[in-house]
Amino acid sequence: MEEIRFGPAGYPEEAKGKPKRSFEILKEAGLTAFEYAAVYGLRTSEEKARVLGNLAKSTGIAMSMHAAYYINLASKSDDIRQRSRKRLEKALRFAPLMGVKRIVFHVGTYGGLSPEESHKVVRSALQEVWEKAGHLGEGAYLAPEIAGKINAYGSVNEIAGLCAETDGLIPTIDWAHMYARTQGKCNDKQSYLEVLGIFEDALGAQFVHNMHFHISGIIFTQAGEKAHRPLGEEWGPDILPLIEITKEVGYKPTFISETPTPLKGALYAKFLLEELEKHKA
Ligand SMILES: [Zn+2]
Repeated sequence: MEEIRFGPAGYPEEAKGKPKRSFEILKEAGLTAFEYAAVYGLRTSEEKARVLGNLAKSTGIAMSMHAAYYINLASKSDDIRQRSRKRLEKALRFAPLMGVKRIVFHVGTYGGLSPEESHKVVRSALQEVWEKAGHLGEGAYLAPEIAGKINAYGSVNEIAGLCAETDGLIPTIDWAHMYARTQGKCNDKQSYLEVLGIFEDALGAQFVHNMHFHISGIIFTQAGEKAHRPLGEEWGPDILPLIEITKEVGYKPTFISETPTPLKGALYAKFLLEELEKHKA
């Protein structure tokens, strides 16, 4: 049932705004995941959401959604905090229409609080969202993402703790963000295994059976993430060791490519796995 999946974040370039064509392209390319980009807010209608859900179902493509960038659960502003919670509630409401099982989001900044205080604020906000709207998602998880900027909430330990302490959460591990956050250190098999180990210890089967990864090349400064870049060229992180781990341990993650041309990144990652499989046979 579970399988390793690859797919792009957002519609392929050549089919922007054309859902039907987009799903055809993914299917023709042998890709089996798609992350719907609602990064500027979920602006679609219920009717259009249903169309997407049906396309995903008929093509066997697993759907996730990237919720709005401007979610900021620990913001100093009450208004922003409230609107952030509302955005997640809306995403949960739309998830079953679209066949979405994972709602990826950025938690936001520390809001001028200490990381510990910020953690408590974020946790209670997510508990509130889940109590109110979790059931609307019909099995969809909220999936907070590892942050690429050092001053943003979302280290490995923060995300692992948050997911362990709150219902309805699984992590989104963005390996490019990890690389940027660690100033390029998280770039080999050992560091990848360490990160996976932290999540596995904290969350067990809930993590192992719901692995959701973002992959991309990236450039960074001392502050962390600066800009996304293609995979497999001059920029890190090196994702081959990650694909090797997946193969060796038997994990079944979904790899979502966030490279500048996401379709290419997804195909590149899929190619690496296929090459490994060939050489093993
Ligand atoms: Zn990401």
